[in-house]
Amino acid sequence: MRNPASRGGYVSRDLSCGMRTSPDSANWLPTTRAEMNARGWDELDVLLVTGDAYVDHPSFGVPLLGRVLEARGYRVGIVAQPRWDTPDDIARMGRPRLFCGVSAGCLDSMLAHYTAFRKKRRDDAYTPGGKDGARPNRACIVYTNLVRQAFPGLPVVLGGIEASLRRATHYDFWSDSVRRGLLFDAKADLLLYGMGERSIVEVAERLRDGRDLIGIRGSAWIAGPDTAGDRLPSHEEIQADPRQLLAATLALEAQVQRADGVLLQAHGNRLLAIAPPADPLATEELDAVYELPFTRLPHPGYREPIPAFDMVRWSITAVRGCGGGCSFCSLALHQGRRLRSRSAESILREVQRLKACPGWNGSISDVGGPTANLWGAHCAADPARCRRTSCLHPRRCPHLKTAQREYLSLLRRLAREAGVKHVRVASGIRFDLALEEPDFVAGLTRDFVGGQLKLAPEHSVPRVLDLMRKTDFGLFERFLALFQQANRANGREQYVIPYVMSAFPGCTMDDMKRLRDWFHQRGWNPQQVQCFIPTPGTVATAMFHAGCDPAGNPIHVARSDREREDQHAALMGRRSGRGRN
Ligand code: SF4
Repeated sequence: MRNPASRGGYVSRDLSCGMRTSPDSANWLPTTRAEMNARGWDELDVLLVTGDAYVDHPSFGVPLLGRVLEARGYRVGIVAQPRWDTPDDIARMGRPRLFCGVSAGCLDSMLAHYTAFRKKRRDDAYTPGGKDGARPNRACIVYTNLVRQAFPGLPVVLGGIEASLRRATHYDFWSDSVRRGLLFDAKADLLLYGMGERSIVEVAERLRDGRDLIGIRGSAWIAGPDTAGDRLPSHEEIQADPRQLLAATLALEAQVQRADGVLLQAHGNRLLAIAPPADPLATEELDAVYELPFTRLPHPGYREPIPAFDMVRWSITAVRGCGGGCSFCSLALHQGRRLRSRSAESILREVQRLKACPGWNGSISDVGGPTANLWGAHCAADPARCRRTSCLHPRRCPHLKTAQREYLSLLRRLAREAGVKHVRVASGIRFDLALEEPDFVAGLTRDFVGGQLKLAPEHSVPRVLDLMRKTDFGLFERFLALFQQANRANGREQYVIPYVMSAFPGCTMDDMKRLRDWFHQRGWNPQQVQCFIPTPGTVATAMFHAGCDPAGNPIHVARSDREREDQHAALMGRRSGRGRN
């Protein structure tokens, strides 16, 4: 990694991490002692440390949680991308009264640093200038150690995707090893998983009231030997038998869905306890969170653009959760399948705020979430009793109720707003659901696709799709036909960009050739091919490690970098270009 002291991207000044107090910074959460002083604060209640640059936008988890705590009356400061050769950056605002929250940022730090072929990335979208080297590998562990040095005895709470997906024993692709639950390596007091609004507020309240942190929903902790709960395979059992990782991962996934019961996992003679997830926010709560006073801008101390901010700047989060349950998606163990949507009125109010932002050009780049056309969808049964792993695979559950017509109406309402020129949907859509309502496809295609529609069939071979928990490929072809028909009717030339994946567990070179043939038969060159990355905590990663499917049947796994590259090249071998359709 680059020397922490040599980072670029900030307005270099007196403070050790280079963040400068700016006269414009009063509307951001404090990042320096001077900004605390400007608010009249001599002490923080909560310090949040993050591996991302500080962008005060609701798409960035740590600033969002900071605003949630602020709204409850807590004095919150943020240290973004601190140097890790000294605790000075973390210590610069003084010891907080209650606790320090630590997150690696919006991505797992190893995923942020390395490609699917374990090569070092040269960029980082969450850093000014898009530069690499602003956060360490295994950032949760490194930052926690720094906090321990800076503030001995202060409670430390881990959160964010890195902590969430590594909360129990997991396979780590980058070291090709099975690692312990993160709390055993990062010496924090508590780990929060999932969307953290409820949990972090409860942490603050309990510490304010002098209570312990045991049993908070959405948390994991190192428990006493008498703790009651259901046992996962132990760390040692998983080390000895890779198939046990699959059993543990499926049990964690079921816990997120059913939201009941404590899970326990022994690590030697110590015990990790994982409470059921926090309840998802209700619509009015979600509305309130997204309407907190975000500036929607990076901290003014930065002097270079932050690519990840540019991507989300004009987007609106409308829905959380996804019913798809795709086996490679980290969402299953993070947000889960419990869908929650914001109200149309709240989204309309957000448009008013967007219009007041500097640089507004009239285009809303996205109104979505994990799956845009699941806005307004809900489970008409009791999700807590659900035994399925997907609401859509192998076929759509009859209890899943969608609201695609209402979603289209919402997009039209936004497009009619004064000052709005375009509304686009950049989030993924489930084409299998869209197909059920041809009017929805026609309306979306005519008014809300900006030339390219990105869809994720992921593969064409049924056996591989089954392992992915993805929908039948024939439905994708039917959607294509409908999309083309709608474009012909409107006299538009627009394209579907299919996202596909190579080297998925169970996928062979012959399978990749079949997928390649599908593209070639249409005269298309695949543009979006992702080589499967076994990210921590997913069912697909457990299959990769175990070499079997969830039922225990052996599967082929492209394990070596060489075979993974070969599968990838099977699809990308041709000159890349636009896939016309
Ligand atoms: S009952 Fe059906 S709609 Fe409800 S969570 Fe289960 S699979 Fe999804």
